[in-house]
This record gives sequence, C-alpha cells and structure tokens, in this order.
Amino acid sequence: MQPTTPFTFKPMNITQIFCPNCGSHAERHHLEEDGLIRTQCHACDYLMITCDKTNRVIEAYAPGLYANK
Ligand SMILES: [Zn+2]
Repeated sequence: MQPTTPFTFKPMNITQIFCPNCGSHAERHHLEEDGLIRTQCHACDYLMITCDKTNRVIEAYAPGLYANK
C-alpha cells in the first residue's frame, strides 16, 4: 500500500524556527531537490541559504546587521 499525499506536490519541508536576527517567527525550508536549506524571516527580511550537504553558506542577508551601505 502506497500512502498518497494529495496536498504536498513538492518534496519540501518547512520548519518553524526563531529568526536569529530579530527573534520573530521564521521559516526554514528544506529544498530537497536542490539540496539547500533556506531560512527566511518575513518580519525583518532575514535570508540565509545554506547547502544541506556541505553546510556552506550560499547566500545570506540580514538587515540590521549589515545595514551600513
Ligand atoms: Zn527576523
């Protein structure tokens, strides 16, 4: 018997976390297709993309920490 998952059409897991930048609720998306983990916060636009295999940071954006332009 195969379990059917009609509502999840993409292999993506979302974990609720706390934003390391502002402390609000943020989301961690596990993009298994790309082997990436994307952490993003809607409250402060914090964004962090890391490689799931090597833990290398692909892209990081933290408003406030790097606010000086
Ligand atoms: Zn935040």
